[in-house]
Amino acid sequence: MTSDNPNDLRVTIIGCSGTYSSSESACSSYLVQTNSTSVVLDTGPGSSIELQKHLDLADVDAIILSHEHPDHWTEMPSLYHAYRFGIGRPHVPVYGTAGTRVLLDASCDEATAYTFDWETIDASSVLEIGDIVFTFSETDHPVETVAIRAESGGASIVYSADTGPDWSPAQFDAPIDLMIYEASLRVDMEDRGIPHISGRQAGIRATEANVGALVLTHIPPGEAHDERSEATLAEFNGPVELAIPGKVFRADRGR
Ligand SMILES: [Zn+2]
Ligand SMILES: [Zn+2]
Repeated sequence: MTSDNPNDLRVTIIGCSGTYSSSESACSSYLVQTNSTSVVLDTGPGSSIELQKHLDLADVDAIILSHEHPDHWTEMPSLYHAYRFGIGRPHVPVYGTAGTRVLLDASCDEATAYTFDWETIDASSVLEIGDIVFTFSETDHPVETVAIRAESGGASIVYSADTGPDWSPAQFDAPIDLMIYEASLRVDMEDRGIPHISGRQAGIRATEANVGALVLTHIPPGEAHDERSEATLAEFNGPVELAIPGKVFRADRGR
């Protein structure tokens, strides 16, 4: 803990594989915590395995889902089983986009009736969960997708979710100490119209938003992670690291 992060705002990488799970990682899921609050951002397929290595599912204060693509939320039916039939905990707060609610109800219509207290969010939402305040920004992606900013005690973390190059974290118009930024594409894929970004583009956007430190994520299985970080470092002067399941990153600017 440092003096500029009094509540120890941090994020643990739960799943970071892009598009589909790899042999080493589930798909997107990130555990944002302070000393008193635990919130899960996205629940990609397979993510509850790693999640339970870091906290008891009964101690999750809330779940926030960035968008309806299956690599970001499809562990929810499994979590429903855990809370409904194992833990016996009703009314777990879940926040997500309208399209995600439709798909969750289609796959498991009992889940939002009792086990999950669902609240639909959009880019204008503000959530206060424990001692963390969450705000949102709609990204450049084919379905409604929200980037998520967490702030506690003046420290801040942003998770990009999925986005093309036409969204910038500068749109939060707020400080960002640490950013978990998707880098799905190789630089040579930038012009193919795929609704994601490269490490190079993440570096450019992070620089214009004055981000303190970057963690690259959502890299598909089989892709060279070094290509992403080298491309990012060419555009961004701060620290750049790669997401690895189980690794913890703190919101300390200039670590
Ligand atoms: Zn994705
Ligand atoms: Zn997506």
